[in-house]
Amino acid sequence: MTHKQKQLIQKLIDTRSLTTEEYTQLIQAQDTKMRAYLAGIARKIADQVYGKTVFIRGLIEISNICKNDCLYCGIRAGNKDCMRYRLTPDEILTCIHEGYRLGFRTFVMQGGEDAWFTDAILCDLLKTIKKQYPDCAVTLSLGERGEESYRNLRMAGADRYLLRHETADKPHYQQLHPKEMSFDTRMDCLQSLKQLGYQVGCGFMVQSPYQTAEHIAKDLKFIETFQPDMCGIGPFIPHKDTPFYNQMAGTLEMTCFLLSIVRIIHPYVLLPATTALGSIDAQGREKGVLSGANVVMPNLSPANVRDKYMLYNNKLSSGPEAAQNLQELKQRMAAIGYEVVVARGDVKR
Ligand code: SAH
Repeated sequence: MTHKQKQLIQKLIDTRSLTTEEYTQLIQAQDTKMRAYLAGIARKIADQVYGKTVFIRGLIEISNICKNDCLYCGIRAGNKDCMRYRLTPDEILTCIHEGYRLGFRTFVMQGGEDAWFTDAILCDLLKTIKKQYPDCAVTLSLGERGEESYRNLRMAGADRYLLRHETADKPHYQQLHPKEMSFDTRMDCLQSLKQLGYQVGCGFMVQSPYQTAEHIAKDLKFIETFQPDMCGIGPFIPHKDTPFYNQMAGTLEMTCFLLSIVRIIHPYVLLPATTALGSIDAQGREKGVLSGANVVMPNLSPANVRDKYMLYNNKLSSGPEAAQNLQELKQRMAAIGYEVVVARGDVKR
């Protein structure tokens, strides 16, 4: 590393902040050595805050029906080759029951923007879950809804909400989404969620089409200022039935590098080693954890719908990615010195 690069990294560690220009320089200058160095520091910080533990979340993909047409996403409305499904509240409760037995204490309900899931239906479901499992946290990841809806869901018991900002650059946001979708709406949603007292997660795809180092620098700056409780960062992976079918996937190296930076600038963040990272590399989850991640989200959806929530090509849902194979995940984490714990795993403040 050059003297200038070392200075930048020292500033990053000391102040947990760089200018957008400095982030851009760092991203452009990264090499194997720098990545390993930052991963070591990020891991040490995560160990200090959360110990040598990994939190697990049971991910239930409640519907792949979606009104949106995000250009990158395999379940976009325009994909006529996607076999659609929707779980009933009873099916969701069965997943949660199974998950609780397996040791999960956080359940994430994720889905496309499916109008069938009205506030009334979701609030009923949330109240039932919270009554049956008062020691569990419930996370929603159901896209953009109005502030009133977010308030209703929060009052009914939702603890956390994941809504990736996808990119912090407005023109880039427009390149990834149809014109009906707006960057400002997404940002407004994130602000409302925060004001309503949710633990909020933002995040972005790594090396999505048209993404530049400057765009990533803006994502880091956004994370620095928004201070999310959770942050989902995974590689973009093309899906064969989308307009981005022939674009390149993001890399393991770049994703792990960014996980490390996010951990350094935001020590308390709950940072998953994502399914997408596990999907591009057999050791992706382990490498994510060793770069500063502290959350893994195994799949708890019913077996017969798992291959239908296909956001990108070859999305993993078996092996250690399946909640039923928790034992394998535990062993893999133990092999790198980390313990999977039975806990809600709230953000530390
Ligand atoms: N409808 C919800 C959930 C979307 S799917 C919402 O809008 O939040 C969850 C995340 O998967 C998205 O936020 C996106 O960042 C990621 N994703 C979608 N397609 C992807 C792809 N092709 N490669 C990698 N990640 C993708």
